[in-house]
Amino acid sequence: MRNTKHKLFDDKSLKRLHDELNICGVVRNHFLALSMRYYRRYGKGLSYSKMSKHLTKLKRLEKYQHWNIPYAWSLQNILKRLAQSFREMRTHKRGHPQFKKCQKHKGMTFDGAQAPLEKVFNAQKNERNHPTYNIRLNGRWYRFALHREIKGEIKQVHVTRDALGDLYITLTEDYSEVIPEPKTGKAEGFDMGIKDFLTGSGGQRWTSPMFYKQNAKKLAKAQQTYSRKVKGSQNQERDRKTIARIHKKTANQRADHHWKLAIELSRNFDILFFEDLNLTGMKRLWGKQVSDLAFGEFLEKLKHQAKKRIKSVLKVDEWSPTTKCCSVCEHKNENLTLADREWACPSCNTHLDRDHNAAINILKEGVASFGLGAVRPIVLLGKIVGCSVEASSSLLHSTNAFA
Ligand SMILES: [Zn+2]
Repeated sequence: MRNTKHKLFDDKSLKRLHDELNICGVVRNHFLALSMRYYRRYGKGLSYSKMSKHLTKLKRLEKYQHWNIPYAWSLQNILKRLAQSFREMRTHKRGHPQFKKCQKHKGMTFDGAQAPLEKVFNAQKNERNHPTYNIRLNGRWYRFALHREIKGEIKQVHVTRDALGDLYITLTEDYSEVIPEPKTGKAEGFDMGIKDFLTGSGGQRWTSPMFYKQNAKKLAKAQQTYSRKVKGSQNQERDRKTIARIHKKTANQRADHHWKLAIELSRNFDILFFEDLNLTGMKRLWGKQVSDLAFGEFLEKLKHQAKKRIKSVLKVDEWSPTTKCCSVCEHKNENLTLADREWACPSCNTHLDRDHNAAINILKEGVASFGLGAVRPIVLLGKIVGCSVEASSSLLHSTNAFA
Protein backbone atom coordinates (compact mmCIF):
# COMPACT_ATOMS: atom_id res chain seq x y z
CA MET A 1 0.00 0.00 0.00
CA ARG A 2 1.18 3.50 -0.79
CA ASN A 3 -0.34 6.71 0.51
CA THR A 4 0.07 10.06 -1.18
CA LYS A 5 -1.39 13.29 0.15
CA HIS A 6 -2.50 16.13 -2.12
CA LYS A 7 -3.96 19.52 -1.33
CA LEU A 8 -7.30 20.40 -2.90
CA PHE A 9 -7.36 23.77 -4.66
CA ASP A 10 -8.90 26.36 -2.43
CA ASP A 11 -12.02 27.79 -4.04
CA LYS A 12 -15.74 28.22 -3.42
CA SER A 13 -16.54 24.62 -4.34
CA LEU A 14 -14.87 23.44 -1.13
CA LYS A 15 -17.72 24.87 0.94
CA ARG A 16 -19.76 21.80 0.05
CA LEU A 17 -17.03 19.48 1.37
CA HIS A 18 -16.78 21.52 4.57
CA ASP A 19 -20.55 21.16 5.03
CA GLU A 20 -20.34 17.41 4.51
CA LEU A 21 -17.54 17.14 7.06
CA ASN A 22 -19.58 19.17 9.56
CA ILE A 23 -22.56 16.82 9.13
CA CYS A 24 -20.21 13.86 9.65
CA GLY A 25 -19.16 15.49 12.93
CA VAL A 26 -22.80 15.90 14.00
CA VAL A 27 -23.60 12.26 13.20
CA ARG A 28 -20.54 11.09 15.11
CA ASN A 29 -21.50 13.10 18.19
CA HIS A 30 -25.10 11.82 18.00
CA PHE A 31 -24.06 8.17 17.94
CA LEU A 32 -21.33 8.73 20.50
CA ALA A 33 -23.97 10.01 22.93
CA LEU A 34 -26.23 7.01 22.20
CA SER A 35 -23.34 4.59 22.62
CA MET A 36 -22.32 6.12 25.93
CA ARG A 37 -25.84 5.85 27.30
CA TYR A 38 -25.93 2.22 26.18
CA TYR A 39 -22.50 1.61 27.72
CA ARG A 40 -23.58 2.96 31.10
CA ARG A 41 -26.55 0.60 31.18
CA TYR A 42 -25.15 -2.60 29.63
CA GLY A 43 -21.37 -2.22 30.02
CA LYS A 44 -20.65 -2.28 26.30
CA GLY A 45 -21.00 0.04 23.34
CA LEU A 46 -23.54 -0.26 20.54
CA SER A 47 -22.57 -2.65 17.77
CA TYR A 48 -22.03 -1.38 14.24
CA SER A 49 -25.06 -3.20 12.83
CA LYS A 50 -27.39 -1.70 15.47
CA MET A 51 -26.09 1.82 14.82
CA SER A 52 -26.26 1.38 11.06
CA LYS A 53 -29.90 0.25 11.20
CA HIS A 54 -30.78 3.18 13.45
CA LEU A 55 -29.02 5.60 11.09
CA THR A 56 -31.08 4.37 8.14
CA LYS A 57 -34.24 4.94 10.16
CA LEU A 58 -33.24 8.45 11.22
CA LYS A 59 -32.34 9.46 7.67
CA ARG A 60 -35.97 8.94 6.64
CA LEU A 61 -37.24 11.45 9.19
CA GLU A 62 -37.90 15.07 8.24
CA LYS A 63 -35.66 16.36 11.04
CA TYR A 64 -32.60 14.49 9.80
CA GLN A 65 -33.10 15.06 6.07
CA HIS A 66 -29.69 16.76 5.75
CA TRP A 67 -27.97 13.59 6.93
CA ASN A 68 -28.57 12.27 3.43
CA ILE A 69 -26.14 14.83 1.98
CA PRO A 70 -22.78 13.18 2.88
CA TYR A 71 -21.70 10.02 1.15
CA ALA A 72 -23.39 7.10 2.96
CA TRP A 73 -20.24 4.96 2.94
CA SER A 74 -18.36 7.66 4.89
CA LEU A 75 -21.06 7.80 7.57
CA GLN A 76 -20.99 4.03 7.95
CA ASN A 77 -17.22 4.22 8.25
CA ILE A 78 -17.58 6.66 11.15
CA LEU A 79 -20.00 4.27 12.89
CA LYS A 80 -17.58 1.38 12.35
CA ARG A 81 -14.78 3.34 13.98
CA LEU A 82 -17.00 4.32 16.91
CA ALA A 83 -17.98 0.68 17.51
CA GLN A 84 -14.30 -0.26 17.29
CA SER A 85 -13.17 2.31 19.87
CA PHE A 86 -15.90 1.21 22.29
CA ARG A 87 -14.73 -2.39 21.88
CA GLU A 88 -11.15 -1.32 22.54
CA MET A 89 -12.09 0.54 25.73
CA ARG A 90 -11.65 -2.61 27.78
CA THR A 91 -8.82 -4.32 25.96
CA HIS A 92 -6.68 -1.17 25.71
CA LYS A 93 -7.87 0.30 29.03
CA ARG A 94 -8.83 3.60 27.42
CA GLY A 95 -11.52 6.13 28.19
CA HIS A 96 -14.49 6.62 25.87
CA PRO A 97 -13.99 8.64 22.65
CA GLN A 98 -14.35 12.39 23.13
CA PHE A 99 -17.06 14.68 21.79
CA LYS A 100 -15.76 17.17 19.24
CA LYS A 101 -17.12 20.37 17.80
CA CYS A 102 -18.46 19.45 14.38
CA GLN A 103 -16.26 22.14 12.78
CA LYS A 104 -13.31 20.23 14.17
CA HIS A 105 -14.29 16.95 12.56
CA LYS A 106 -11.23 15.97 10.57
CA GLY A 107 -11.90 13.21 8.11
CA MET A 108 -14.16 11.35 5.76
CA THR A 109 -13.39 8.18 3.78
CA PHE A 110 -14.47 7.27 0.27
CA ASP A 111 -14.24 3.96 -1.49
CA GLY A 112 -11.63 4.22 -4.23
CA ALA A 113 -13.99 2.90 -6.92
CA GLN A 114 -16.51 5.64 -6.08
CA ALA A 115 -14.04 8.50 -6.46
CA PRO A 116 -12.89 8.62 -10.08
CA LEU A 117 -9.97 10.78 -11.21
CA GLU A 118 -9.72 12.71 -14.44
CA LYS A 119 -6.88 14.71 -15.92
CA VAL A 120 -7.69 18.35 -16.68
CA PHE A 121 -6.28 19.44 -20.00
CA ASN A 122 -5.55 23.09 -20.75
CA ALA A 123 -5.44 23.79 -17.05
CA GLN A 124 -3.42 26.71 -15.81
CA LYS A 125 0.08 25.49 -14.90
CA ASN A 126 0.64 25.40 -11.16
CA GLU A 127 3.87 26.57 -9.58
CA ARG A 128 5.75 23.26 -9.71
CA ASN A 129 4.38 22.22 -13.08
CA HIS A 130 2.42 19.24 -11.77
CA PRO A 131 -0.55 18.09 -13.85
CA THR A 132 -3.95 19.24 -12.61
CA TYR A 133 -6.48 16.51 -11.86
CA ASN A 134 -10.16 16.41 -11.01
CA ILE A 135 -11.56 14.04 -8.43
CA ARG A 136 -15.26 13.30 -8.01
CA LEU A 137 -16.31 13.10 -4.39
CA ASN A 138 -19.97 12.51 -3.70
CA GLY A 139 -21.10 13.72 -7.11
CA ARG A 140 -19.00 16.89 -7.33
CA TRP A 141 -15.63 17.57 -8.91
CA TYR A 142 -12.70 19.07 -7.03
CA ARG A 143 -9.32 20.11 -8.42
CA PHE A 144 -5.85 19.31 -7.15
CA ALA A 145 -2.24 19.07 -8.41
CA LEU A 146 -1.03 15.49 -8.64
CA HIS A 147 2.58 15.60 -7.42
CA ARG A 148 3.18 11.82 -7.44
CA GLU A 149 2.25 9.63 -10.35
CA ILE A 150 -0.43 7.03 -9.64
CA LYS A 151 1.07 3.57 -10.04
CA GLY A 152 -1.57 1.17 -8.74
CA GLU A 153 -5.31 0.90 -8.30
CA ILE A 154 -6.77 3.44 -5.89
CA LYS A 155 -8.41 1.57 -3.03
CA GLN A 156 -9.44 4.38 -0.75
CA VAL A 157 -9.61 8.15 -0.72
CA HIS A 158 -9.43 9.92 2.62
CA VAL A 159 -10.45 13.57 2.87
CA THR A 160 -8.86 15.45 5.75
CA ARG A 161 -9.21 18.94 7.09
CA ASP A 162 -6.57 20.64 9.24
CA ALA A 163 -6.80 23.43 11.80
CA LEU A 164 -6.27 26.04 9.09
CA GLY A 165 -9.34 24.83 7.19
CA ASP A 166 -7.26 23.46 4.30
CA LEU A 167 -8.56 20.28 2.70
CA TYR A 168 -6.37 17.39 1.61
CA ILE A 169 -6.99 14.05 -0.05
CA THR A 170 -4.92 10.97 0.70
CA LEU A 171 -4.93 8.39 -2.09
CA THR A 172 -4.26 4.80 -0.99
CA GLU A 173 -3.00 2.61 -3.82
CA ASP A 174 -2.36 -1.14 -3.78
CA TYR A 175 1.23 -0.68 -4.83
CA SER A 176 4.42 -1.11 -2.84
CA GLU A 177 7.36 0.92 -3.96
CA VAL A 178 10.79 -0.73 -4.10
CA ILE A 179 14.00 1.16 -4.83
CA PRO A 180 16.75 -1.47 -4.78
CA GLU A 181 19.95 0.12 -3.48
CA PRO A 182 23.39 -1.49 -3.64
CA LYS A 183 24.28 -3.27 -0.39
CA THR A 184 26.98 -1.56 1.63
CA GLY A 185 27.65 -4.52 3.93
CA LYS A 186 27.52 -2.21 6.94
CA ALA A 187 25.66 -2.70 10.20
CA GLU A 188 25.37 0.13 12.70
CA GLY A 189 24.00 0.61 16.20
CA PHE A 190 22.35 3.91 17.16
CA ASP A 191 21.85 5.60 20.47
CA MET A 192 19.16 8.27 20.68
CA GLY A 193 19.67 11.24 22.95
CA ILE A 194 18.81 14.82 23.73
CA LYS A 195 22.17 16.47 23.02
CA ASP A 196 22.81 14.53 19.83
CA PHE A 197 19.71 13.18 18.15
CA LEU A 198 21.58 10.07 17.02
CA THR A 199 25.03 8.70 17.80
CA GLY A 200 26.24 5.89 15.58
CA SER A 201 28.51 3.06 16.71
CA GLY A 202 31.03 4.28 14.12
CA GLY A 203 31.32 7.55 16.04
CA GLN A 204 29.27 9.73 13.72
CA ARG A 205 26.76 12.12 15.28
CA TRP A 206 23.56 13.63 13.96
CA THR A 207 22.03 16.60 15.78
CA SER A 208 18.42 17.72 15.62
CA PRO A 209 17.57 21.35 14.82
CA MET A 210 14.85 21.37 17.55
CA PHE A 211 12.19 23.07 15.49
CA TYR A 212 9.68 23.62 18.31
CA LYS A 213 12.31 25.49 20.30
CA GLN A 214 13.18 27.58 17.24
CA ASN A 215 9.59 28.68 16.79
CA ALA A 216 8.82 28.96 20.52
CA LYS A 217 9.19 32.76 20.72
CA LYS A 218 6.94 33.37 17.75
CA LEU A 219 4.39 30.93 19.18
CA ALA A 220 4.40 32.54 22.63
CA LYS A 221 3.81 35.96 21.08
CA ALA A 222 0.97 34.68 18.93
CA GLN A 223 -0.65 32.97 21.90
CA GLN A 224 -0.40 36.18 23.90
CA THR A 225 -2.16 38.28 21.27
CA TYR A 226 -4.76 35.53 20.89
CA SER A 227 -5.59 35.59 24.59
CA ARG A 228 -6.29 39.36 24.47
CA LYS A 229 -8.98 39.09 21.80
CA VAL A 230 -12.72 38.96 22.44
CA LYS A 231 -13.96 35.38 22.52
CA GLY A 232 -15.69 34.31 19.33
CA SER A 233 -14.70 37.46 17.42
CA GLN A 234 -13.28 37.66 13.90
CA ASN A 235 -9.99 38.93 15.32
CA GLN A 236 -9.68 35.94 17.60
CA GLU A 237 -10.35 33.59 14.72
CA ARG A 238 -7.56 35.25 12.75
CA ASP A 239 -5.13 34.81 15.67
CA ARG A 240 -6.20 31.18 16.10
CA LYS A 241 -5.18 30.62 12.51
CA THR A 242 -1.81 32.30 13.10
CA ILE A 243 -1.12 29.86 15.94
CA ALA A 244 -2.25 26.90 13.85
CA ARG A 245 0.05 28.05 11.04
CA ILE A 246 3.08 28.09 13.36
CA HIS A 247 2.26 24.57 14.61
CA LYS A 248 1.84 23.35 11.04
CA LYS A 249 5.15 24.87 9.98
CA THR A 250 6.97 23.24 12.93
CA ALA A 251 5.48 19.85 12.09
CA ASN A 252 6.41 20.22 8.41
CA GLN A 253 9.99 21.24 9.19
CA ARG A 254 10.41 18.31 11.55
CA ALA A 255 8.93 15.81 9.11
CA ASP A 256 11.17 17.10 6.32
CA HIS A 257 14.28 16.73 8.48
CA HIS A 258 13.20 13.22 9.52
CA TRP A 259 12.62 12.07 5.94
CA LYS A 260 15.99 13.37 4.76
CA LEU A 261 17.84 11.71 7.63
CA ALA A 262 15.91 8.45 7.17
CA ILE A 263 16.84 8.31 3.48
CA GLU A 264 20.50 9.06 4.23
CA LEU A 265 20.74 6.33 6.89
CA SER A 266 18.89 3.67 4.93
CA ARG A 267 21.21 4.30 1.98
CA ASN A 268 24.40 4.07 4.02
CA PHE A 269 23.69 1.03 6.18
CA ASP A 270 22.25 -2.43 5.56
CA ILE A 271 21.16 -3.20 9.10
CA LEU A 272 20.28 -0.52 11.63
CA PHE A 273 19.95 -1.41 15.30
CA PHE A 274 17.96 0.72 17.72
CA GLU A 275 17.09 0.42 21.35
CA ASP A 276 13.47 -0.19 22.19
CA LEU A 277 12.58 3.19 23.65
CA ASN A 278 10.71 3.85 26.82
CA LEU A 279 9.16 7.09 25.62
CA THR A 280 6.94 7.82 28.60
CA GLY A 281 9.94 7.38 30.89
CA MET A 282 12.02 9.72 28.75
CA LYS A 283 9.27 12.33 28.76
CA ARG A 284 9.19 12.26 32.54
CA LEU A 285 12.94 12.84 32.59
CA TRP A 286 13.39 15.46 29.89
CA GLY A 287 9.89 16.79 29.21
CA LYS A 288 9.01 18.78 26.11
CA GLN A 289 12.36 18.23 24.37
CA VAL A 290 11.51 14.57 23.78
CA SER A 291 8.29 15.52 21.99
CA ASP A 292 10.24 18.05 19.91
CA LEU A 293 12.62 15.33 18.73
CA ALA A 294 9.75 12.89 18.07
CA PHE A 295 11.86 9.71 18.10
CA GLY A 296 8.87 7.45 17.53
CA GLU A 297 7.78 9.29 14.39
CA PHE A 298 11.36 9.23 13.10
CA LEU A 299 11.61 5.46 13.60
CA GLU A 300 8.37 4.91 11.64
CA LYS A 301 9.72 6.96 8.73
CA LEU A 302 13.07 5.17 8.87
CA LYS A 303 11.34 1.77 8.79
CA HIS A 304 9.34 2.87 5.76
CA GLN A 305 12.42 4.07 3.86
CA ALA A 306 14.46 1.00 4.82
CA LYS A 307 11.72 -1.36 3.68
CA LYS A 308 11.61 0.43 0.34
CA ARG A 309 15.35 -0.12 -0.07
CA ILE A 310 15.27 -3.73 1.21
CA LYS A 311 17.29 -2.89 4.32
CA SER A 312 16.35 -3.71 7.91
CA VAL A 313 15.69 -1.72 11.05
CA LEU A 314 15.90 -3.97 14.10
CA LYS A 315 15.21 -3.35 17.76
CA VAL A 316 17.30 -4.71 20.62
CA ASP A 317 15.85 -5.59 23.99
CA GLU A 318 14.88 -2.58 26.12
CA TRP A 319 16.33 -4.08 29.29
CA SER A 320 19.86 -4.83 28.12
CA PRO A 321 22.30 -2.54 30.02
CA THR A 322 23.61 -0.49 27.09
CA THR A 323 24.76 2.66 28.87
CA LYS A 324 26.28 1.22 32.03
CA CYS A 325 28.40 -1.48 30.40
CA CYS A 326 31.89 -0.84 29.09
CA SER A 327 31.88 -1.85 25.44
CA VAL A 328 35.51 -3.01 25.55
CA CYS A 329 35.71 -5.28 28.60
CA GLU A 330 31.99 -5.53 29.53
CA HIS A 331 32.56 -4.20 33.04
CA LYS A 332 29.28 -2.89 34.48
CA ASN A 333 29.60 0.54 36.07
CA GLU A 334 26.75 0.85 38.57
CA ASN A 335 27.85 4.32 39.75
CA LEU A 336 27.14 5.98 36.42
CA THR A 337 24.69 8.88 36.69
CA LEU A 338 22.76 10.74 34.01
CA ALA A 339 25.12 13.71 34.30
CA ASP A 340 28.19 11.67 33.33
CA ARG A 341 28.67 12.38 29.65
CA GLU A 342 32.13 10.79 29.64
CA TRP A 343 33.70 8.25 31.96
CA ALA A 344 36.78 6.07 32.32
CA CYS A 345 36.22 2.35 32.75
CA PRO A 346 37.53 1.33 36.20
CA SER A 347 38.47 -2.11 34.91
CA CYS A 348 40.29 -1.50 31.62
CA ASN A 349 40.89 2.29 31.84
CA THR A 350 39.39 3.07 28.45
CA HIS A 351 38.05 6.60 28.09
CA LEU A 352 34.40 6.27 27.07
CA ASP A 353 31.86 8.67 25.63
CA ARG A 354 28.47 7.87 27.05
CA ASP A 355 26.44 7.94 23.80
CA HIS A 356 29.09 6.37 21.62
CA ASN A 357 29.61 3.58 24.14
CA ALA A 358 25.86 2.92 24.24
CA ALA A 359 25.68 2.82 20.44
CA ILE A 360 28.46 0.19 20.30
CA ASN A 361 26.68 -1.85 22.97
CA ILE A 362 23.43 -1.67 20.98
CA LEU A 363 25.28 -2.89 17.89
CA LYS A 364 26.91 -5.69 19.94
CA GLU A 365 23.62 -6.76 21.47
CA GLY A 366 21.85 -6.65 18.11
CA VAL A 367 24.50 -8.56 16.21
CA ALA A 368 24.64 -11.20 18.95
CA SER A 369 20.88 -11.63 19.34
CA PHE A 370 20.37 -12.07 15.61
CA GLY A 371 23.35 -14.45 15.38
CA LEU A 372 25.26 -12.36 12.87
CA GLY A 373 28.73 -12.66 14.40
CA ALA A 374 30.79 -10.58 16.83
CA VAL A 375 31.65 -6.91 17.29
CA ARG A 376 35.12 -5.73 18.36
CA PRO A 377 35.67 -2.11 19.37
CA ILE A 378 38.99 -0.77 18.09
CA VAL A 379 40.86 1.00 20.91
CA LEU A 380 43.71 3.41 20.18
CA LEU A 381 45.56 5.25 22.99
CA GLY A 382 42.82 4.47 25.48
CA LYS A 383 40.01 5.78 23.26
CA ILE A 384 37.57 3.97 21.03
CA VAL A 385 38.12 5.00 17.44
CA GLY A 386 35.71 2.64 15.72
CA CYS A 387 34.53 -0.92 15.69
CA SER A 388 34.67 -3.88 13.39
CA VAL A 389 31.88 -6.32 12.78
CA GLU A 390 33.16 -9.84 12.25
CA ALA A 391 30.22 -11.25 10.42
CA SER A 392 30.03 -13.65 7.56
CA SER A 393 29.18 -11.50 4.57
CA SER A 394 26.56 -13.98 3.46
CA LEU A 395 24.69 -13.31 6.69
CA LEU A 396 24.89 -9.56 6.25
CA HIS A 397 23.54 -9.87 2.75
CA SER A 398 20.64 -12.10 3.65
CA THR A 399 19.14 -9.71 6.16
CA ASN A 400 15.81 -9.62 4.40
CA ALA A 401 14.88 -12.59 6.53
CA PHE A 402 14.82 -10.31 9.59
CA ALA A 403 12.91 -7.46 8.06
ZN1 LIG B 1 36.28 -1.57 30.30
